[in-house]
Amino acid sequence: MASQETVDHKYVYDFSEGNKDLKDLLGGKGANLAEMTNLGLPVPPGFTITTEACQAYLATGREPDGLAGQIERHLESLERAMGKRLGDPQDPLLVSVRSGAKFSMPGMMETVLNVGLNDQSVEGLARQAGGATGQAASGGATGQAASGGATGQAASGGATGQAASGGADRFAWDSYRRLIQMFGKTVCEVPGEEFEHALDEIKSAKGTHNDLDLDADDLRGLVDAYKKIFLKHTGREFPQQPREQLDLAIRAVFESWNAERAVLYRRQERIPADLGTAVNVVSMVFGNLGPDSGTGVAFTRDPGSGAQGIYGDYLANAQGEDVVAGIRNTVPLQELEQLDKSSYDELLGIMARLEEHYKDLCDIEFTIERGKLWMLQTRVGKRTAAAAFVIAGQLVDEGLIDLDEALHRVNGAQLAQLMFPRFQIDHEFEAVATGIGASPGAASGTVVFTSARAVELAAEGQSVILVRRETNPDDLNGMIAAQGILTSRGGKTSHAAVVARGMGKTCVSGADAIDVNVPAKRFTVAGQTVNEGDVVSIDGTTGKVYLGEVPVMPSEVVQYFEGSLDPEHIDNALVRAVHRIMTHADGKRRLAVRTNADTGADAARARRFGAEGIGLCRTEHMFLGDRRELVERLILARAEGEREAALAALLPLQRDDFGEIFRAMDGLPVTVRLIDPPLHEFLPPLEQLAVNVAVAQERGEDVAKEEALLAAVRRMHEENPMLGLRGVRLGLVIPGLFAMQVRAIAEAAVACARGGGVAKPEIMVPLVGAVQELETVRAEAEKIIAEVVGDSGVEVLIGTMIEVPRAALTAGQIAEAAQFFSFGTNDLTQMAWGFSRDDVEGAFFWRYLELGIFGISPFESIDRDGVGRLVRIAAEEGRAARPGLKLGVCGEHGGDPDSVHFFHEVGLDYVSCSPFRVPVARLEAGRAAVETGGSDSR
Ligand code: PEP
Ligand code: MG
Repeated sequence: MASQETVDHKYVYDFSEGNKDLKDLLGGKGANLAEMTNLGLPVPPGFTITTEACQAYLATGREPDGLAGQIERHLESLERAMGKRLGDPQDPLLVSVRSGAKFSMPGMMETVLNVGLNDQSVEGLARQAGGATGQAASGGATGQAASGGATGQAASGGATGQAASGGADRFAWDSYRRLIQMFGKTVCEVPGEEFEHALDEIKSAKGTHNDLDLDADDLRGLVDAYKKIFLKHTGREFPQQPREQLDLAIRAVFESWNAERAVLYRRQERIPADLGTAVNVVSMVFGNLGPDSGTGVAFTRDPGSGAQGIYGDYLANAQGEDVVAGIRNTVPLQELEQLDKSSYDELLGIMARLEEHYKDLCDIEFTIERGKLWMLQTRVGKRTAAAAFVIAGQLVDEGLIDLDEALHRVNGAQLAQLMFPRFQIDHEFEAVATGIGASPGAASGTVVFTSARAVELAAEGQSVILVRRETNPDDLNGMIAAQGILTSRGGKTSHAAVVARGMGKTCVSGADAIDVNVPAKRFTVAGQTVNEGDVVSIDGTTGKVYLGEVPVMPSEVVQYFEGSLDPEHIDNALVRAVHRIMTHADGKRRLAVRTNADTGADAARARRFGAEGIGLCRTEHMFLGDRRELVERLILARAEGEREAALAALLPLQRDDFGEIFRAMDGLPVTVRLIDPPLHEFLPPLEQLAVNVAVAQERGEDVAKEEALLAAVRRMHEENPMLGLRGVRLGLVIPGLFAMQVRAIAEAAVACARGGGVAKPEIMVPLVGAVQELETVRAEAEKIIAEVVGDSGVEVLIGTMIEVPRAALTAGQIAEAAQFFSFGTNDLTQMAWGFSRDDVEGAFFWRYLELGIFGISPFESIDRDGVGRLVRIAAEEGRAARPGLKLGVCGEHGGDPDSVHFFHEVGLDYVSCSPFRVPVARLEAGRAAVETGGSDSR
C-alpha cells in the first residue's frame, strides 16, 4: 500500500495515520477521530478521504486519479481489521459515510449510514444481530431503559430465541429502510417527504404514532415501498452493489459542500468557500440494538454557562441522528449511570482524559452497542460567550492553560454579546413555558412559524421569533433573520440549539408545554392560543417563554465595566473571568483605546469603560437642534456683519460644549474635529422650500425673506454633498468658522486648566487632501491658540484626518504640517471604493455578499488589501517624514475586532470607537499583541 501511495498523491488516511493537527487535510471530525484512535480510545475503525480529494472533485467534476484504488486498499484493510466484508451476505460489514470539514458546520452537509446493506446482506445482518450474543433487541422496545442496570445484558434477558430473532429482524430491516431513505435523499435527490409519507401511512395503518411499534414485517413492507419510490424518482433500482453504494455516497458528501444551505452557513460564519469537506468512512456501530444500546452527546462542561460537571443527553435504543434531530426526547446523561454503570464510568474516564488532552471543553458523540462503548466523535465544543470566558478562567485555575492562552480563547464578538441587556422580570411577568436555555440573550418579537415568513417580516424591519416544533437545516434563512428561536422539542444539542449558539442568536429549545401547529400558524400553551403576529419574549439563558414584550435590564458585564459590580467581592463567575482576562489584555496591548464621543455624558461613560481619551469629537453634532438656525444664518450670510453675529452667538455655546468634555476626560487627550457636515444637513431641503414659497406667493403673502433663502439654498445646492463643500473646504470658504471653533477649544482648555484640571486638546482638520489646505488652517489656528493660551501651560496639537485617498498617498507631505494623523476609514472606504456610504449597503451589498465579492461589508471590517493598503502607505510615509508621528483611527473600524488586529499590525498608536465598543477594542488589542508575540509593552 505504502509504495503505491508514494506514486499516487495520498488522498486517504487510516485513522491510525492522522492526528488532531491535520484538520486542514482531514477535517475536524477525521482529525479528531485519528487523535482518539491514537490515544487508544474505543473508536470504530475507519479511514478519512481528504479535503484535497474533495477540492479536486469539485474542481473537475470527477474523482482524482488514484482515489478509487486508495479507497479499495483502505477498505480491504478495514475489512481485515473487522473480520468482515462490506455487504457480505452472511455477515456484512456496514459503514457510515460522513462529512467533516475543517470548521464544524452542524447538519449542513450529508451523511449516509448503513452502507453495505442490500437484499441479501439485510438477512445476514439479521442473523448476526440475533445470533451473535444470543440476545436480541426486543422488537417493541420503547426506548425505556433496561431496569436492572444491566451492562451488556439486554433488558429482554429472558427473551426466547424467537423473540430474539424477531428483534434482530426488525433491527436489520429498519437499518435497510434507513439506508434507502438516506441514500435516496442524499445521493439521488429523492424528495424526503415521500419517504416520510410512506412511513406515516404504515404507522397509521397500524394505528400508532411510534416508529418503534412497527415490527419486522412492517419494515420489510416499508423497504418495498421505499424501493418503489426510489425507482420512480431515479429510473433505476436501488443499487445492490455495496462498493457502488459507497462510491456514490462519497461523491454525494463531496457535492454537499456546495449545497445551498452549506453555502449560506459558510457565508454567515465567514468560513472560506474553497476548503472542501473530508469524508469519513467508519465501521457502523449500532445504538438501536435494544435497551442495552443507545446513543448520546456529552459535554465536559456546561456549554451554556461554563459550569463544571457532566452535561449531555442520552437516548436508549436509538441512532445518533435521533438525538441530534431532537426527534425523541432524551434523558439527562446522568441517568446512564443507572442504565449501564460500566459504560457510564468508562465514558467519564474518557471525558476527563479528553479534556486534559485537548485542554479545553470537549463535546463528544458516543454510541453504546450492547454494553460496549464507542466514541464516534469529539471536538473542542462550541460554547456561549459567557461559557467561553468562564471556562478560559477555570482552565487557568486548573493549570491547563496560561493567561495568554485564555485571552486567545475568547474574542471581542463574544464580549459584545455579553454586553447585551437581559430581561427585567418582575411579578407582572410569568413564564408560560420553560424549555432549555439553549443560546443566551433576551429576545422579544412577532411570532412566525416559517422560515420564509421570518425573512419577510425581518426585511420589513420587524423583530421576529421563529417558532417551530424542531428546526432543520432548511430553516437556516429564517434563523438568520429571526431575533430568537423557540422550539417545542429537542435538547441542548438539537439542531436549533447548536446553530443558534454558533450564530449568537437567542434560542429556547424543547419547550414541550408548547403545542405548535405550523399549518394553522398558531401555538397553544397553558390554555392560551398564540397566533402568528402576536408578540412573545424568550430568555435563552433561563429557557423561559413569556407572552408579550418583557422589558430588559443591562448586563452584569456592563455593570462591571461601569464600576457598579466589584469583581473581587461578588460571587459571579462570569464577571470575575471577564475582569481577569480584561486585566491581562490591558497589560499586554500596545494599542491605546480611545472613544468617539461628542458629549460629556458619553465621554464619562466611555471613560468608565476604559477609554484613554477621545479620538473623535464630531463637532457638527453640536450644531443641531436649537442651534441649527444660527448655523443656517452663518452659512447663508452674504453680509459680513450677519456672519459675525452668528459666530459670536455660537462661540460661548461651543466653549461650554468643549469645557464639559475636557472635564469628563480630565488628564486625557481629546481630539476635537473641526466641523465637517455635508452641507445639505444644515440647509432646509430645496424642494420643500420651493413649494412653500410658491404656495405663499399664490396666497399673495410677503415672501421676500423666503425668496432670499430659496435663492441662497439654490446657490449652495450640490448634486453630491458627500463629495462637496464639507470638511476643510467649508472651513476655507466660510470665513471665521474654524477660527471660532479653535478659539472655543483653546478658551475651554485654558478655563479647565485654571480650574485645576488638565485639558489636552488635539485639533483635527477633516477631509484634507492636500498639505496646502492643512497649512492654511494651521497658520490661522496657531495665531489664535498663541493668543488664547498665553502662559496657561495648555498645549494644543494640530493634526489631520486621513480620509481622502489623496491624503494617504501624499502623507509624507502632509506629515510636515501635521502633529498627528487619524484615519477616517469611513470616508476612506467610501472614496477608495467609490461607494456612497449612505446608500450602497441597502442598494446592492446583499448581491456582492451573495457573489462573494466580499465576505463582509468593507464599511464594517477594514478591506485590508485596498483601504488597508492606503492606511499602511500613509502610516509609513507619514512616519518617515515625521518620526514619532502619532497615528490613530476613528472610523467605525476602530471597534471592529478584525480591524483592530490590522491596526495593531500596521503600528498605529490607538484606535477610537463608540463607548460601547471600548471594552471590545481593549480585548482585541490585547489578543493582537499576544498573537503577534508582543509582551507588556505599554
Ligand atoms: C470617517 O470618515 O471615518 C470619520 C471618522 O468621519 P465621519 O464618519 O464623521 O465622516
Ligand atoms: Mg469622515
